[in-house]
Amino acid sequence: MREWKLAETNYGAIKGKTFEVAVLPLGATEPHNLHLPYGTDIFEADLIGERICEAAHARGAKVILLPTIPYGTETNQMAFPLAMNLNPSTLFLVIKDLVDSIAHHGMRKIVLLNSHGGNDLKPILRELYGKSQASLFLCNWYTVLADMQQEIFEHRDDHAGEVETSLALAFFPELVAKQPDGTLSADDGATKPTRFEAVNRGWISITRPWHLLTTNSGAGNPHAASAEKGQRLMDHLVERLANFLVELSESPLDERFPF
Ligand SMILES: [Zn+2]
Repeated sequence: MREWKLAETNYGAIKGKTFEVAVLPLGATEPHNLHLPYGTDIFEADLIGERICEAAHARGAKVILLPTIPYGTETNQMAFPLAMNLNPSTLFLVIKDLVDSIAHHGMRKIVLLNSHGGNDLKPILRELYGKSQASLFLCNWYTVLADMQQEIFEHRDDHAGEVETSLALAFFPELVAKQPDGTLSADDGATKPTRFEAVNRGWISITRPWHLLTTNSGAGNPHAASAEKGQRLMDHLVERLANFLVELSESPLDERFPF
């Protein structure tokens, strides 16, 4: 039993204990090219949450990892079978109720550990600011290592590409579909441009209809992925994020927090 993981610990173990930081991971249920499981974002959120909380706990942080929310926003993925959507407004209500629960139980520092690009969570930080007794911190883990991306990986990954496939090969390889010759059962994750230059160059933003953008839901070439790259990614993530959790746990909630 890991006492920093709420789903595993028990009342006897936490009775009389206090926690400073709650980590709430968010996943999604959606296709990931032809080769990764629908639960990829859930597994990533679980794994990264566990690794960073374990490391922070070992260094004295009073941190508790909550169960991962397994559904996310999929409005633009719904042309693919069995993508499971929570609208942003619904997801915000779920997060708000959980934030209220965490604050009710006396914790004032909450980290949203997001694993799904379709979950746009900054607006809920803005909406709850000044209303909740707790301070919210948002981590989209896939942005944490932007400065190291090219050092570890050959290809950019938007969805089910080299980054996510490397994590899967390192941590849940039995769920990665392969051909008899050992190559991935995946297409090359190529994406199509829209008809508008302004959209393609990022001057104008849209929510991208995933069935028009991709062939089999993958956006990013997964074929250079390896377990070794996935392990390196995880090691760097743990180093950066566990450090933050330790600092956050130790930080006093004075009137200038977090400055
Ligand atoms: Zn994913």
